[in-house]
Amino acid sequence: MLFDTHVHLNADQFDEDQEEVIKRAQEAGVKEMVVVGFDEKTIHRALALVERYDFIYAAVGWHPVDAIDMKDEHLVWLEELAGHPKVVALGEMGLDYHWDKSPKDVQKEVFRKQIALAKKVKLPIVIHNRDADRDIVDVLREEDAGQVGGIMHCFGGSVEIARECMEMNFYISLGGPVTFKNAKRPKLVAKEVPLDRLLIETDCPYLAPHPYRGKRNEPAYVKLVAEQIAELKEIPYEEVAKVTTANARKLFDIVR
Ligand SMILES: [Zn+2]
Ligand SMILES: [Zn+2]
Repeated sequence: MLFDTHVHLNADQFDEDQEEVIKRAQEAGVKEMVVVGFDEKTIHRALALVERYDFIYAAVGWHPVDAIDMKDEHLVWLEELAGHPKVVALGEMGLDYHWDKSPKDVQKEVFRKQIALAKKVKLPIVIHNRDADRDIVDVLREEDAGQVGGIMHCFGGSVEIARECMEMNFYISLGGPVTFKNAKRPKLVAKEVPLDRLLIETDCPYLAPHPYRGKRNEPAYVKLVAEQIAELKEIPYEEVAKVTTANARKLFDIVR
């Protein structure tokens, strides 16, 4: 059994065949997943999905690329949603220095507000980080995010950064890039991070693993991520599947 901790089945890319994609995921052994909403439209669509499928859970937050669009009323809305029985985390949130739609100081402000909310409602957080390793770690530490912990989603940083995040109660989640031939850092992280601190994800429709690189990603492919981790750690695939699933269920507090 596999747990895909980060999917965007609520994205337009799945409008045509969402149902079949979910069926394929189940056939591949993906028994549970978390769909991530990060703005008004995708949050509404994430909530619709969790109403429809009992094995899909939601994370809701505000994406750093769109930080400039977040209003106070959105934060109030997120607080309301935190009480929804199937909302298991807040996010994705964080810092993205690749795109320059939202200035860095605005991104940090919106990030800090969401961490404060997570501490208030006692939910773990899902961190999006692009080209902002140092600032992410600094904000998490300054805001004492370790109180709630969470996930470093699609982690692409160094082993050192991974260690700092683990010290703050965060899990390291690996996705498609760990399967890329030239991806030295994620492979090293897969080897060095203990299995009881690892999670797996697809981040679909983005970042499809080898041999689907460049194509649309889907939850069934999370199996390829688990297989790659097993190979790198030289342990059975079943163990990776079992432990990463248990990690996810513990973090999201899923009992059923
Ligand atoms: Zn992300
Ligand atoms: Zn995402």
